[in-house]
Amino acid sequence: MKLQPRYTDISELLTIEDMPSAVAEPKLLLFNDQLADHFSINHDSEFLAKFLTGSTISNDVAPVALGYSGHQFGHFSPRLGDGRAHLLGAIADQDGTLWDLQLKGAGATVFSRGGDGRCAIGPAVREYIMSEALYALGIATTRCLAVVTTGEMVYRQPPRPGAVVTRLAKSHIRVGSFQYLATQGDIEGLEKLVDYAINCHFSEISSAGEQRYIEFLTAVLDKQVELVVSWMRVGFIHGVMNTDNTLISGETIDYGPCAMMNQFDLDTVFSSIDHQGRYSFGNQPNIANWNVARLAESLIPLFDEQDGAVEKLSSVVNGFADKFNDAFNAMWQQKLGLAGQQEGDHVLVSELLALMKQHQLDYTNTFNALTESLVSDFTVDCRLKGWVLKWKLRTTAESYSVMRAVNPAVIPRNHNIESIIAEFEKAGSSLLLNDFLEVISEPYTYFKEHQSWYELPSDGDKNYQTFCGT
Ligand code: AMP
Ligand code: MG
Repeated sequence: MKLQPRYTDISELLTIEDMPSAVAEPKLLLFNDQLADHFSINHDSEFLAKFLTGSTISNDVAPVALGYSGHQFGHFSPRLGDGRAHLLGAIADQDGTLWDLQLKGAGATVFSRGGDGRCAIGPAVREYIMSEALYALGIATTRCLAVVTTGEMVYRQPPRPGAVVTRLAKSHIRVGSFQYLATQGDIEGLEKLVDYAINCHFSEISSAGEQRYIEFLTAVLDKQVELVVSWMRVGFIHGVMNTDNTLISGETIDYGPCAMMNQFDLDTVFSSIDHQGRYSFGNQPNIANWNVARLAESLIPLFDEQDGAVEKLSSVVNGFADKFNDAFNAMWQQKLGLAGQQEGDHVLVSELLALMKQHQLDYTNTFNALTESLVSDFTVDCRLKGWVLKWKLRTTAESYSVMRAVNPAVIPRNHNIESIIAEFEKAGSSLLLNDFLEVISEPYTYFKEHQSWYELPSDGDKNYQTFCGT
């Protein structure tokens, strides 16, 4: 595997050399062959198990932990960094694009702050499934190459088998990376980081000076709008949208406490520590906007004059609401197959959402039923009958294909993931996983024979809870 160093020329604060700790008995548990092909990585289980736990290190590149700050639930931590992740280096895909190859759970780092730097098998499997499911849903995300078990227990409540996740990401540049250099006063590094990020993700930006920073912020904002709309289109709740978990590429990262919404309710929260609903399903756009504002703040030192900078940067940040609303409205148009925009469409959408909330209807299954009802006698919940009559008047011959492309028939439901994780924790393997991965790899096709994966949990996930950093 040919690796290259990354981020090392930007600021010495960003990368700190740090060795993973070898593990007792590395065993390749999950391997993403399709993704591996994209990087011409051979499926050599013995080598990969050692390499992807950091038990064998390539001599070419020193592993590093990345430094970053982060607003966690609104509170600023000036020095967070990778407490349980090691960047082994960058690897080029078949198109020559560089991706970070990062291990999560390969031991403590200089940023661990008393944590063990380890990861349990459950969250590792969850990250693998969820990131691959989001990828199949067409949502920007980091990818998962492998999960390797360590042969060691990690000390959680109760102790669990340990595992290391291998994550591939086009970069790990976060809002928190900019906050880190800004608060450390490394203005030269900050400027270089903007250039590096533009080079990786927004190469269309060619202007210089202050205009460059404005365009960069705008591009990041646009990606955040797109990301949150796509999450909300499928009912995804990220659960921990801290600034250290917000990639400027607009890719989803950090799958710890994420979950899928069943019954439609904007206030849905599953994270055990999100008592105020800061990261609820419906608050995700506000938080993305807030995070972009934190990025804007960290760019201020790059401007000659502070007052002018605040004004210019604020006008970009304040554009979030309009951009989001346009994209969000377009999303509902597509989810309902409405041709063009007509006066009463807002009302049509809000009536449906109110009915779904009132009757606790499942988000995915309702939109799937509406979609399929256009081409068969598929049953739509009878409590939507009056609304369906109005809606059908607004559909056309194209509605089915438009709706089918944006309304998943199947999503990675929380209870399915938990069943698979329970199998792994108990038996070290899963009978369900392969079938599940196959089903969620084609989420926008309705297959009658996949019925069991469409079913809801018996308790509607009423008591379901997710956890951070497990
Ligand atoms: P997260 O909520 O997963 O983004 O993690 C927030 C911060 O806590 C990051 O700096 C992580 O590196 C760190 N962290 C999470 N879990 C652990 C762990 N088991 N050991 C050390 N640091 C951790
Ligand atoms: Mg994180």
